[in-house]
Amino acid sequence: MFDAYEIRKDFPILSKLIEGKRNTYLDTAASAQKPCSVINRMVKAYEEEYANVHRGSYWLSDTATANYENARKLVQTFINASKKEEIIFTRGATEGINLMASSWGNKNIGSGDEILISKAEHHANLVPWQQLALKKGACLKYFDLGEDGDFILDNFIKALSDKTKIVAVSAMSNVLGTIFDVKKVVSEAHKVGAKVLIDACQFAVHKKIDVIDMNADFLVFSGHKLYGPTGVGVLYGKYDLLCETPPYQFGGDMIEHVYYDRTTFTLPPARFEAGTPAIVQAIGLGEAIEYLMKFDFCEIEEYENMLIKYTTDRLLEIDNLKIIGNAKNKGGVFSFDIKGIHPQDLAFVLGKEGVGVRTGHFCAEPLVKELGYNSLTRASLGIYSVKEDIDVLIKTLQKAKLLLT
Ligand code: PMP
Repeated sequence: MFDAYEIRKDFPILSKLIEGKRNTYLDTAASAQKPCSVINRMVKAYEEEYANVHRGSYWLSDTATANYENARKLVQTFINASKKEEIIFTRGATEGINLMASSWGNKNIGSGDEILISKAEHHANLVPWQQLALKKGACLKYFDLGEDGDFILDNFIKALSDKTKIVAVSAMSNVLGTIFDVKKVVSEAHKVGAKVLIDACQFAVHKKIDVIDMNADFLVFSGHKLYGPTGVGVLYGKYDLLCETPPYQFGGDMIEHVYYDRTTFTLPPARFEAGTPAIVQAIGLGEAIEYLMKFDFCEIEEYENMLIKYTTDRLLEIDNLKIIGNAKNKGGVFSFDIKGIHPQDLAFVLGKEGVGVRTGHFCAEPLVKELGYNSLTRASLGIYSVKEDIDVLIKTLQKAKLLLT
């Protein structure tokens, strides 16, 4: 039985007082806290099993290599990829998308081609495509969401054309919380011959990923949002597509043979992992995945849906508070505005009470501006969030209102 209070005990930081106040951490969409098992696993890797990977033929290097490759295998199982060679370790989702835009994009996007994304993309899934379009004379097209932030299949289909070469969408918006119908996105995009990249940064934290069921061509996520360490992320790609994609960076480990005048490159995943990788971070991510795989994702979803409803109802008790993003299918992200109060002032008062929220445009500046704001406040939930976090948030928001209006 899913018990968030029991889960909280696995996360040491949650029981630490923050400037003397209860740690009410509501910023998991920005980065999640880490369970003991991940922290301890990384300490063990450094204390007992550390050396560079793929190079040595001594116990420490062999062990580090086995652990690093085992992490790849764990990611493969976690997202149900066909083989572990489809898993590329990156620095994070941002690097995965940049890799795709510059390598795959450089080869496959030409003048007049169309790249299709939603209006709710994180800058990480917008700027690389925008820059590619500018460089190639291609067109970056956007499709609209509904008024409440819902994914509208018709809007998406209307924006597709036989010129669309790639569709890049987030499976869950970090601003609106909207869950996209990724399976439909993929099947419709494939009808016009476009490839699809899924940004699963937020989605991976809340829902089960199955790349075979989604039929996604490429998918990215970051370790640090998935209760793992910073500095590591994943790019998944169908193997044949990865094999057709040129390297992104050049250097050690990604070569087959180097001559003074030319180089031949090795196969994926090594082709895309030039240089010494984030060894211990990847091992930590593997441990985070092992931690998560102990849970039944249906139970996580059921619990989160209860907490989403509770949070929505409680936020709406506050006068002049508007939730931005009310899609029918949404995850635990609550961006909101309180009329007459600047988000920065609000976050300052909340912070003094131990409540961690985020303010700004959440790396989705065009969307937030189009919605009529320069800045919003965002509270977001994780596996360890409980009703008490929301109660503290609401009480502190009420207090902040008295102070700031
Ligand atoms: N996409 C989405 C939807 C995100 O929420 C984020 C992080 N806020 C990113 C991409 C970029 O992730 P990272 O900074 O870990 O590379």
